[in-house]
Order: sequence, then structure tokens, then C-alpha cells
Amino acid sequence: MAEERLRVDALVVGGGIAGMQASLDLADQGYHVALVEREPSIGGKMIALSKVFPTLDCCSCITTPKMSAVAHHENIHLFTYTEVKTIEPNGGSYLVHCVEKPRYVDTGLCTGCRQCEYACPIDLPDPFQMGLSAHRAIRVPFSTAVPQKAVLDIDHCLLCGKCEKACPVDAIDFTQGPQDLVIEARAIVLATGYETTPRDAKAEYGAGKLSNVIDGLMMERLLAPTGPYLHVLRPSDGKEPDSIAYVQCAGSRDETLGVSYCSRVCCMYAIKQAMLLSGALPMADITIYYMDIRTFGKGYEQFYQNARAMGIEFVKAKVGRITEDEYRNPIVRVEIMEEASRVEERKHDLVVLSVGMLPAYDPRPLYGVPIAEDGFVEAACPNIAPPMTAQPGVFAAGTATGPMDIVDSIVMAGAAAAEAAAYLERHDGEAKTYAGRSISMGEKEAIHA
Ligand SMILES: Cc1cc2nc3c(=O)[nH]c(=O)nc-3n(C[C@H](O)[C@H](O)[C@H](O)COP(=O)(O)OP(=O)(O)OC[C@H]3O[C@@H](n4cnc5c(N)ncnc54)[C@H](O)[C@@H]3O)c2cc1C
Repeated sequence: MAEERLRVDALVVGGGIAGMQASLDLADQGYHVALVEREPSIGGKMIALSKVFPTLDCCSCITTPKMSAVAHHENIHLFTYTEVKTIEPNGGSYLVHCVEKPRYVDTGLCTGCRQCEYACPIDLPDPFQMGLSAHRAIRVPFSTAVPQKAVLDIDHCLLCGKCEKACPVDAIDFTQGPQDLVIEARAIVLATGYETTPRDAKAEYGAGKLSNVIDGLMMERLLAPTGPYLHVLRPSDGKEPDSIAYVQCAGSRDETLGVSYCSRVCCMYAIKQAMLLSGALPMADITIYYMDIRTFGKGYEQFYQNARAMGIEFVKAKVGRITEDEYRNPIVRVEIMEEASRVEERKHDLVVLSVGMLPAYDPRPLYGVPIAEDGFVEAACPNIAPPMTAQPGVFAAGTATGPMDIVDSIVMAGAAAAEAAAYLERHDGEAKTYAGRSISMGEKEAIHA
């Protein structure tokens, strides 16, 4: 395995909206940045969302230009499908050992034409569409993926050679192996984001086995213009739902799941989706079962009031159990809190669990960064400099530090970039060694370890 080494001012880990923003802010100031993303494309969760609250702007229209700006910035070295394996302190900098996973496709040759994808006979659940439709074993991850390069799932490949025959530029390479890469960075920004609470976490809500009980991210895909069915249809039978219910706090403020905190975005994304559903399915009844509605941001309370005025039903209730009838219609057992705790069973066509946020990554073993009680990265001085961690030169941004919306993730990414820039400036002697000196990918050979 060949080893390459790259010297940069800052390493950004995670290519969601926070990581992209921190990279761009540092790169625009002349710092040289390596952005490492473990998935085959950057974009994070935001690229899969339909529209953003409270403006209802198209998510893809905001995210795609940022992804492109990252890929084309002369001061950013982008590494996708790459994981950080070890980190060593190195006299004022960090030596970061990464492994680029094999795509079995020569990215220098691949043009993203998708001929391999059309030829491949294997269908697998598509993670970008939250498993609601299929992709091929070899595929470009999604239509606006950056980079537009195919990736092969070798574990499910039949080695039939159809992709190899179809590829017009001979880019398929079954002999590829993992590629080692060493990055020397003087500062690190952790932007490793969040995962949602698993849909199967609660046995009372069907443990993920009820096909018409989906989660918030699945509904985002149903509502997106590039969604799996190009319309809102329920997964079990493709029927257009006439009655849709949201169950709030289905993964937050729940001691039984070990998630005692509020995930902060679920009320707003449920209200947003309910409004979008009113447009997509004007005849449908939409109900939101909630314990408390929390609309903390600028313009958010008005957004909630608009949803009420549109006829979306808000019912203050605790959902105890979800089952289904013989036609797979979910039946929700609710305790209606405003009516002397009356218990009712209500039938819907589709139920959406407003799942919460969990940390996506534990940075302790590699980065020596402490985590807080909730599992997210702990700020060393939360009230003075939220992006600073207890580890010198290591900063954190976005939902790696706790549940937050896109606006706050972007603001915090800007703050992390500013803190990292100030840190680099303070350690100026070393900074001059790297800043303003671009080490191109072609030059890497010359600085091999
Ligand atoms: C259903 C739903 C709807 C939402 N709708 C809205 C909305 O309308 N408006 C709004 O403001 N917010 C919304 N949000 C919240 C929004 O998704 C987040 O605020 C935002 O995406 C956070 O961005 P991030 O960069 O912090 O994290 P992420 O988007 O999670 O990005 C983190 C990235 O880091 C990568 N990564 C993780 N670990 C590693 C590692 N070890 N090495 C390398 N890479 C790694 C991940 O692969 C990922 O690409 C919604 C959330 C949900 C669940």
C-alpha cells in the first residue's frame, strides 16, 4: 500500500454543512485545508432534505453550490470515502493517518456517466433514499454527489464483469485496495454531525417492523423532488395517504432510550413537513401528536402559527403504542392530555416518527476530546468560545457538539473557523511554514514519508 503525505494548516473531519462551511471559511482566508469525509460524497444530511424551515427554500439548491465550491477551491484538498485511523501529536502539529477506502473505480478516469450502473444486475436498498428504493451495487451515490464518481459495493458484487464491459473509459478496477494517506495538520475541526435515533428503538412503536410507520428523514425523501416515488406514497402498497400523523419526541426526552435531552429540530421539521404535505396532498388530514411545541428560532413561532391556520391538527397527547390492522394501517393509541387524559385509538394511513439526534462519532479515542453527558463533543468554555475543545488546536462545529438546526450549524462552523484561524495565527512561526504554500496532489510524491 502506497503512503502519501500532505501538509496543511487545518484538517476538517466531516463534510456536512458545518464541515463544508468551516473549510470554505478557512480556505478563503488563505489557509490550506484537508477535508476528510467517510462517505463517497460530501453533503451530509442536508443534501437529502426536501426544503428548509422556516423559509421553505430548496435544500439541494443551497447545498449543491457549497459542495461544488468545496470541490473547486484551490486551498481545499477533498478526500471522500476516507477514514481517520490514528492521530499522533507531532511537535505543535498532528500527524493524521487516514485510509481511503477502495471504490474499485479509477476516479481519475471515471466521468460519472453511470453506464456501469445501468449494466449492473444487483439491486440493493439505497441509503440516500433511506431504503425506500434501490440502487445498483455499482453506482454514483446520488445525482448531485460530489465527486460525481462511481463506487462499487464489493461485498454484494457478483464479479460478473458487466460494469467493466459497459465502462467507456476502462475505469473499473477490481484490484484496488485501501490507500494510506498521512496528513500533517496544525489545527483540527471536528464536524462529524449526527445520526437519528433508530426507527426500531421503541418496541411500543412497532420496533421498525410496521412498514407504514416511517421516520422524519424518510418523509424528507418522500417530499424531495428527487425522491424515490416522485410523490408522497406509503411504502407498503404505494397508496396515496389520506391521513398522516406525526409522533413527536419519538427518540428525544425519553429516559428509556437514554436520550433525556430535547433534539431541538423535531418540532420544526414536523411542522415544515406537515405544511409541505398540505401542498402535496391537499385533501389529506394531518395530525401532530405532541407533548410540548418548541419553536425557539427567529420566525419559528410564526411558522408554527401559520401551520395551525392552515388546518393542521395539533393534539397535545402522549402516544403509548402503535400497532396496525390487516391492511397495514397504523393504529395509534393516544392519551389526550387536554381532555382529562382520555385514551383513544386512532387509525391513520401513515405515521411519521419525529426521531431525535444522536452523536455520529465518538472522538475520545483518536482526538482526546472529552464528550459531555449527552455524548456530544464537550466545549471547554461553552459560554465564551463554544467551538473550543479541551485539546489544544482541536475545535468542533455543528451537530457534532449537540442538536442544532442548519442556521446554528453554519454559524458555529464560522466560529470554529475563526477560532482555528486565531490559533494558527497565535502559533505564527509554524503557520508561516504552511499557509500560503499550496502542496498540490501532484507534489505529494515529493514529500513522501
Ligand atoms: C428529518 C430532519 C429534517 C430536518 N430539517 C431541517 C430543516 O428544515 N432546517 C434546519 O435548519 N435543520 C433541519 N434539520 C437539521 C439538519 O439536518 C442539521 O442541522 C444539519 O444537517 C447538521 O449538519 P452537520 O454538518 O452538523 O452534520 P451532518 O449533516 O450529519 O454531517 C456530518 C458529516 O460528517 C461525516 N462524518 C461523521 N463521522 C465522520 C468521521 N469519523 N470521519 C469522516 N467523516 C465523518 C458524515 O458522514 C457527514 O457527512 C433536520 C433534521 C432532520 C433529522
